[in-house]
Amino acid sequence: MLIDLNPNIKVVRPEGQAVFPYSNSIFIDDKVKTLIDAGSGGKAYTDIAPEKIELLLLSHYHFDHTNGISFFENARKMVGEEELWAFTDENQFLRSSGYFRWEELIGSPKEESWSKSIHLPDDVPSRPGFQHWEMEVFKDGQEFIVGETRFNAIHTPGHSPGHYAFFFPDQKILFSADLDISPRGPWYGGEFSDFDDIVQSINKMTALKAETLVSSHRRVFYGQVEQLLHDYLKVALDRENRILDCLDLPCSLDDLAERDMAFESLPKTSHNIFWAKMMILKHLQRLIKMRQVKHLGNYRYVRTD
Ligand SMILES: [Zn+2]
Repeated sequence: MLIDLNPNIKVVRPEGQAVFPYSNSIFIDDKVKTLIDAGSGGKAYTDIAPEKIELLLLSHYHFDHTNGISFFENARKMVGEEELWAFTDENQFLRSSGYFRWEELIGSPKEESWSKSIHLPDDVPSRPGFQHWEMEVFKDGQEFIVGETRFNAIHTPGHSPGHYAFFFPDQKILFSADLDISPRGPWYGGEFSDFDDIVQSINKMTALKAETLVSSHRRVFYGQVEQLLHDYLKVALDRENRILDCLDLPCSLDDLAERDMAFESLPKTSHNIFWAKMMILKHLQRLIKMRQVKHLGNYRYVRTD
């Protein structure tokens, strides 16, 4: 399904819900037919003639944004310069999940690869895992003029190191990709995720004064963008404050995770516990950097003041 934001800029909505393995894409129906992200599924892309897409830009390398790259065989393909490795360097790609920390954080060897066991819908043409693609790169601030429509790539790391948002200054439309306004707040559970970067990236997006916000996994929001971004960041900042409160007394990572510091209300699967711990670690890294917390060794922490 297509949602017109203006005569040229459209949101491609997946057939099912815009949740993994699907995500929203942006289609720019102008002189140069352009698509941002490739995870809406084959059924959704029948609305836009995939063979006519000339330029495919990726917000970042995660599977739910890249699984449909093969639909766009005639397109120039581009990703942010900070994430070219995800399509060229398999070792770095494997490292990015952080799964090499699994045994240390969970206490038992990682069971069968999640990527091998998941069931995917028929219109998702690839499976999670490293995919080699010839990619060109774009940079922070780079302007794309694709006919009457122009927009800029905005480097917004934190979720992943080469995560980009896209801003259409004439229409004040922001595509915030996986800074997705989820009620659970931002996700920063990857090896190369960084919570300081999340804070700065959300502030950077707020400064754009967008009037319409589209993200990868939610509906279109018209108006009150500043408030939405503020509330979204607040979910994570509140989590950081709760961590800090706990650390009045020495506390282990296990204790912090046990107190449900991240991923509240999600089922306690080993993957959810792993990502919760990874995200709590990102807060601890930031708090240590700000000298508010010190590491006592062996994943035990305490507040310094
Ligand atoms: Zn992502």
